[in-house]
Amino acid sequence: MNPIIIVGTGLAGYSVAKELRKNGYDGPLTMVTADDGQFYSKPLLSSALAKGQNAESLATSTGDEMANTLNATLLNHSVVESIDTDAHTLTIDGKRHQYNQLVLAIGASPIRLPFKGDGANDVLTVNNLMDYAQFRNQLENTKCVGVIGPGLIGSEFANDMLKSGYKVELIGPDKWPISTLLPEQAGRCLQKSLSDAGAIWHLETFNGSIDKSGSGFRTELQNGSIVEVDLFLSAVGVKPEITLAKASGLQVNRGIVTDEFLNCSAKDVFALGDCAEVAGKNLPYVAPLMIAARALAKTLTGAQTRVIYPYMPVVIKTTLHSIVTLPPAPGSPGAWQVDGNDDGVVGRFFSPDDIMSGFCLTGNKISQKASLLKEMPAL
Ligand SMILES: Cc1cc2nc3c(=O)[nH]c(=O)nc-3n(C[C@H](O)[C@H](O)[C@H](O)COP(=O)(O)OP(=O)(O)OC[C@H]3O[C@@H](n4cnc5c(N)ncnc54)[C@H](O)[C@@H]3O)c2cc1C
Repeated sequence: MNPIIIVGTGLAGYSVAKELRKNGYDGPLTMVTADDGQFYSKPLLSSALAKGQNAESLATSTGDEMANTLNATLLNHSVVESIDTDAHTLTIDGKRHQYNQLVLAIGASPIRLPFKGDGANDVLTVNNLMDYAQFRNQLENTKCVGVIGPGLIGSEFANDMLKSGYKVELIGPDKWPISTLLPEQAGRCLQKSLSDAGAIWHLETFNGSIDKSGSGFRTELQNGSIVEVDLFLSAVGVKPEITLAKASGLQVNRGIVTDEFLNCSAKDVFALGDCAEVAGKNLPYVAPLMIAARALAKTLTGAQTRVIYPYMPVVIKTTLHSIVTLPPAPGSPGAWQVDGNDDGVVGRFFSPDDIMSGFCLTGNKISQKASLLKEMPAL
């Protein structure tokens, strides 16, 4: 019997594997990953510094331990080069591997802005444990870090570094922090709390060049200011990994296109997690991938199961000013109504016909999550 092959050992890949075994699948299972296959929780990368955790302590199991627990064959440091969906094979290092069913859980890659300058290649991004080890290594001799991108991930890293005694400067064209997920008043609360902890904000501007300067880096902003730091970290978003799928003839859009059952455009190929666009939605968060993993394991073990998302508020780990948000779908018509002050706000998003379609809570208001969820219309 050919195995189920899962490509990717992030939270999506390992969650499907665990759910498959829970659902009684006792057939062959192969896990393939470009990295070493260690298990870790990616969201912890942006809050580990202040907790005194490093890359080694974040990895809770080795790839071999995971393979043993899951009774799976692990092919680590193995990049899938191509997929032949007609022949049901994939190729690693020129060798073909036959699958019965194939699950793509290959994640997303950080977007890299095309900076000019002799320091452009030294800008770090953190999207996995190896990146994190390098980031921590470079923080050793660092006092001041420039964060490019004042969104969710950039603000979380800034929060973590400020709590750990680093000087942080944040740069981005946004009017306020996390502007794609939060109304202005909520973003301003976060901006104030991080400023109180020492953050310097350069909003509504951006930089085009990163140059080496002494032992650090220097950038000139569009508004004429100069920022000099020891290290730049870029956090300007991620793009789903679609290259392999596209080259293999699978339908792609922003992500690898699937229906509500996580079927890709070829028979016996499925996708979930950051790489997938499930029924039109690419949701790069943990809650949606866990729901998808449970549904997919049922489908793969014979009970066709649709992915049904409940409301999934996002907890933003800016502990200097905590935030929970359930943003409306991008581009939704309507407006935020926000009450509160610097200590915390409650925001509700209403459509033009007065239906609540999102909310956010910050600071001393985050305990109201359950009651705000009850105010949302039934799904
Ligand atoms: C710093 C940070 C903080 C975050 N915080 C939160 C949070 O608080 N809450 C939240 O909900 N979400 C958070 N997220 C998002 C969340 O972590 C991701 O949605 C989730 O971890 C994605 O898991 P994944 O398994 O889809 O992808 P990944 O973890 O990226 O795994 C992809 C896997 O695919 C493998 N792979 C890729 N291409 C190939 C190939 N060709 N051949 C073989 N293997 C391949 C990789 O080696 C890897 O094993 C955060 C993300 C980051 C970066």
